[in-house]
Amino acid sequence: MSSRALVELHHVDKHFGPLHVLRDINLTVERGEVVVVIGPSGGGKSTLCRAINRLETIDSGEIAIDGRPLPAEGRELARLRADVGMVFQSFNLFAHKTVLQNVTLGQIKVRGKDRKSAEERARGLLDRVGVGTQADKYPAQLSGGQQQRVAIARALAMDPKIMLFDEPTSALDPEMINEVLEVMRQLARDGMTMVVVTHEMGFARSAANRVVFMADGGIVEETTPDEFFTAPRTDRAKDFLSKIL
Ligand code: ADP
Ligand code: MG
Repeated sequence: MSSRALVELHHVDKHFGPLHVLRDINLTVERGEVVVVIGPSGGGKSTLCRAINRLETIDSGEIAIDGRPLPAEGRELARLRADVGMVFQSFNLFAHKTVLQNVTLGQIKVRGKDRKSAEERARGLLDRVGVGTQADKYPAQLSGGQQQRVAIARALAMDPKIMLFDEPTSALDPEMINEVLEVMRQLARDGMTMVVVTHEMGFARSAANRVVFMADGGIVEETTPDEFFTAPRTDRAKDFLSKIL
């Protein structure tokens, strides 16, 4: 295993019943890298993200986080999981907790921090994603874009080594998409290692170091954004791009 690799997948396969949803996936994400995963709906992108966090089991192959194999269960799994921050399409905030509580809870329960330092860190992160003034509100009182930025702050509060984003702007009204992408761009500039599933091609072009094009459970192309958008090699990618650009 290479020392710069934060996430490594070797020959990962998964089925849902008869459906072969991940086909021999080999992927390495290096420290500081931003990998954007794109492809048609149903291609296995979410399953891939969920497998990296072991929210889904795999049938065969290996997944390692920062050089450590992801075990099936137990303490080591919990530890590795805490190293992987995840942001979903639906913001998944705790509805009956305030914004501040949403961002402190994991720090206290999982990372064992005391309330004061957890709150300090939470306030810093909420400021960083531009919702510092919303700390005492409940999620339902916030716009979708604000909620998603809180979700990002909550994930960052665990000090993850890598952040996974699964279509973080797909559920947002158009005018809120950019405020979330801007937070993600800033994270990338700050050197965070990121895997981002998105249909936002502008973001892919400007922020990705690498584009992974996934379809029918397999990685069809893996290249630079420049090459992918100007000279896709496969008919599958050409067809996909012709439909979305
Ligand atoms: P994407 O995120 O690229 O749209 P997904 O990973 O969500 O793709 O889904 C890949 C395929 O697996 C789809 O055909 C989907 O219907 C199927 N699938 C996803 N989750 C499950 C599940 N829990 N049980 C059965 N089939 C599933
Ligand atoms: Mg998906």
